[in-house]
Amino acid sequence: MPSINEKFIEELKSKIDIVDFIGQYAHLQLKGGQYWACCPLPGHSERTPSFAVNKDAQFYHCFGCGKGGDVIKFAQEVESLDFMEAVTFLCNKYNIEMPVSEKEDKELKVKLSKKERLLALLKDTALFYVHNLKLPEAKPYLNYMEKRGLTKSVIIRFGLGASLDYNSLPAYLRKKGYTEAEMLDSGAVAKSANGRLFDCQAERLIIPMINNFGDVVAFSGRILEKTAGVGKYKNTRETSVFIKSRTLFNINNLKREKNGEGIPYVIVVEGHMDAVSVYNAGFKCVVASMGTALTIDQTKLLKRYSNNVIICYDGDAAGQKGMIRGLEILKGEGLNVKVVCLPDGYDPDDVIRKLGADEFKKLLDNALPLTDYKLYLIGKKYNVKTADGKRQYINDSLKVIKDCDSEAEREERLRVLAKQTGITYESLYRDMENADNSKPETKQIVEAKEEAAATDRVVTAERYVLASYLFKRKCAKKEDLKRLTMKDDVDATIAKYVLSKLDNNEEVKITVLPEIVGEENIEKLNEVLLSGNGIFDMPNEERYYKDCVSLLFKTGVEKELDELNKIYSVETNQEKRNEIAQLIKEKSSLLFRL
Ligand code: ZN
Repeated sequence: MPSINEKFIEELKSKIDIVDFIGQYAHLQLKGGQYWACCPLPGHSERTPSFAVNKDAQFYHCFGCGKGGDVIKFAQEVESLDFMEAVTFLCNKYNIEMPVSEKEDKELKVKLSKKERLLALLKDTALFYVHNLKLPEAKPYLNYMEKRGLTKSVIIRFGLGASLDYNSLPAYLRKKGYTEAEMLDSGAVAKSANGRLFDCQAERLIIPMINNFGDVVAFSGRILEKTAGVGKYKNTRETSVFIKSRTLFNINNLKREKNGEGIPYVIVVEGHMDAVSVYNAGFKCVVASMGTALTIDQTKLLKRYSNNVIICYDGDAAGQKGMIRGLEILKGEGLNVKVVCLPDGYDPDDVIRKLGADEFKKLLDNALPLTDYKLYLIGKKYNVKTADGKRQYINDSLKVIKDCDSEAEREERLRVLAKQTGITYESLYRDMENADNSKPETKQIVEAKEEAAATDRVVTAERYVLASYLFKRKCAKKEDLKRLTMKDDVDATIAKYVLSKLDNNEEVKITVLPEIVGEENIEKLNEVLLSGNGIFDMPNEERYYKDCVSLLFKTGVEKELDELNKIYSVETNQEKRNEIAQLIKEKSSLLFRL
């Protein structure tokens, strides 16, 4: 990396005050010479502040999740950007001009333009679908939208369109100069077994997914008529620009509302079309979680817009299960949560179409706070007229009441329960004290699951990389393996074997592996051996391999950085602090070179 880059990076950091920038994501309060807030970083949720920003050192550190770094690192974490994207993001935000040499750095340019081209392709695809609506074949799609009562301005606002067949989109994109690899990368186009490119959303009504920067990142397609064995909705797959758990549908329009009249509350619905329908009925502050349960990252995104959230999922059982999980996460993030009780069998769209927007507004006004909603569900679950049902009703209710935030609230609710059931307050109180509150879906568990998913990605990548060596793929170079550390023990054993063979210029033999990893690990070995299936010999094999290698390298360096940050946060000796800061700088620049 030429020195001008590092010089520029230093200059950039000196021009931006980290307190000012982070202050846009967290409510910072000065205490004891440092600024404190609840951690605004994705994946960490807390109610008491352990996130500190040091103005003098221009450094942040979270004592909860252990993450820390400079202003660029923060931009990377909070906006899900890589190093150069974060630099560009900050430059744009603070009107700092990037030096020409920076722009011309070849490697950089390729990387930036790769993403730019991907976004341009997705935008062109969205425009293509919109344009299709003008064709005579699009009549059924227009009829459908009309039947749903969608106004023209809403159709335009959401960029709704149609895919009329399998072949037109790839042909159009090819004419626009996009390569096959770029089309496949976007998730909008796929390749059939006989090598033909086709439109993944063929013959569907198209709802583009737009992120909070206003970029089209994915598509959801709805079929017009129910066909057996075909899902009503189909979403394009996750890509480098679309991570579902970090995105909310309609977040782009929410930004507009925030800048306009402000946002009293955000309505959260499940599906894309629900969001469109709710918006169409005049409730513009609505987002869709695109699945049943809200993730922590989606919650953090929401929190930037409003502290009040009304959850409005389908009335069916699955919706309710997802809703409770979402509620726990929202509450954990300190948001005021209410829940709408939709009539059984209705989704928000049904309510608006069959009962009207006024009725929907009434439901919003009558939305229940979290505890009331949980008690409401329990009441629905049991028949209190039977002795057994009554006992279960009391048991479940006591668990919920025990969880209330204040003693006063607990007491009040116990009195209500006593009146309802005819059991004395005192004995209910005793039973509540003994109630077992091991909630299966608490925040921690959800967090653990999300962490497990991230680990899975890493393990998948390392297995694929190993398979590339074992099957002697051309792209697998010795130097790559040398700089990687494997997360999984069995993978590490295999990597060690492969490296020792490569170092001695000896042949890597798959047949000896079962003995090396041991019988108890045969299943894992098999997974390694199978991971090349469907990727080897495909046109994008080399790129996939490289992506895996950089993911693993990045994960390794980030782990080291996290540890350094932890040491830095507790080190009091200034000289040692400087040393660690220097190390952190060096390690961070490794990420920069990726
Ligand atoms: Zn944190």
